[in-house]
Amino acid sequence: MSLLNQTHNPDLTSWVASANVAECDFPIQNLPFAIFRRAGSAEAFRGGVAIGDKVLDLAALAALNLFAENLQPALRACSQSQLNDFMAMPQATWSALRLALSQALATGSALQSSIEATLIAQADIEFDLPCKIGDYTDFYTSIHHATTIGSFFRPDNPLLPNYKWLPIGYHGRSSSITISGTDFHRPVGQTKAATADEPTLGPCKRLDYEMEVGIYIGAGNEMGSPINIEQTDQYVFGMCLFNDWSARDIQGWEYQPLGPFLAKNFASTVSPWIITNEALAPFRQAWQRQKSDPQPLAYLSGQQNSTLGSYDIQLEVSLQTANMRSAQIEGQKITRTSFKHSYWSVAQMVAHHTVNGCNLQAGDFFGSGTQSGPSLDQVGSMMELTSAGKTSFTLENGESRTFLEDGDAIIMSGFCVAEGATRIGFGSVKATILPAKT
Ligand code: MN
Repeated sequence: MSLLNQTHNPDLTSWVASANVAECDFPIQNLPFAIFRRAGSAEAFRGGVAIGDKVLDLAALAALNLFAENLQPALRACSQSQLNDFMAMPQATWSALRLALSQALATGSALQSSIEATLIAQADIEFDLPCKIGDYTDFYTSIHHATTIGSFFRPDNPLLPNYKWLPIGYHGRSSSITISGTDFHRPVGQTKAATADEPTLGPCKRLDYEMEVGIYIGAGNEMGSPINIEQTDQYVFGMCLFNDWSARDIQGWEYQPLGPFLAKNFASTVSPWIITNEALAPFRQAWQRQKSDPQPLAYLSGQQNSTLGSYDIQLEVSLQTANMRSAQIEGQKITRTSFKHSYWSVAQMVAHHTVNGCNLQAGDFFGSGTQSGPSLDQVGSMMELTSAGKTSFTLENGESRTFLEDGDAIIMSGFCVAEGATRIGFGSVKATILPAKT
């Protein structure tokens, strides 16, 4: 079954001219959601949709009463300072609003003159988190990442026996998930050198990034009622870029036997725009499991998952050192991969998370786990890039890195391209490491 509809038509153009420029992240086929206000103002945060280099103010649009009566509740929900109420609405409502926005912003729309005044330049706005994130779950779905990391600890047996049978995950912390641009202090924690008798408390020495895809849950499920893998599209609202910063030295000492704790919960950064699941439809692909690997159990297997379970999202990581910033250099690309290499699909994460009856709620958030492709230039962390800190890499300006230093910023960007579809982008996520507070 095709998930494509008229909103994906590559021939569509917008009367917002900047949306029609090639390589634009936000053409009319994208229409992602964020929470924003004019930068530095005391305005209320409210929902917005990106179009070209502008944002369509959904609170202003709701006040104009231009859309059909049945769409007004959705627009009013988008006028609030968090998108949870809109995300909790049925998939059919998300889709109906997307269609109305597409028609209103399309070249030739009779609504152009009414809507023009509700557009604000993206250069003039600031963002807040798009929703109240209730619970955050971090998965571990890249087999290339899991194999490389596992090989540092267990060279003969890098993958544990459960890896190919279920999407591994743990419960993270949502209070320290922040919006792009929120800088943070290097974490302090307890570490123990292999040669030392006792641990010490001090600034993290092995600070790393993790290139992940963030997945926002919309409509939730009743506790006790698992979500069928064939119906997960009714629950997945959209995706973003996600940097799940990690303190590798703190993790190494603390993680046994219960798993990650303070090494992971000091900061995680999301990109501002939620690219809706519907906008991603043209970039979905067949999800396949190698014949030589165990085939998933029935609850992790389905027709829709097999034909359209994988998302080809290009993911890029750039490093900007303090010296580069002084020299007004944007940053240097260090790796690039695609979400299509993920061993487990989004649908499988949702089905597995709820198979025990766990209830997901609107605004819940999944991290995909660090996304790494099969080769060294496709890794999603410095831990992999430097073989757990054994090597370093040299940047074009002569500086070198093993792990991240104070003043370093990590910038992640993402986009999707496919034959017969208009390119869409994710924008970017950036944050800078400040010195530890000691
Ligand atoms: Mn993570």
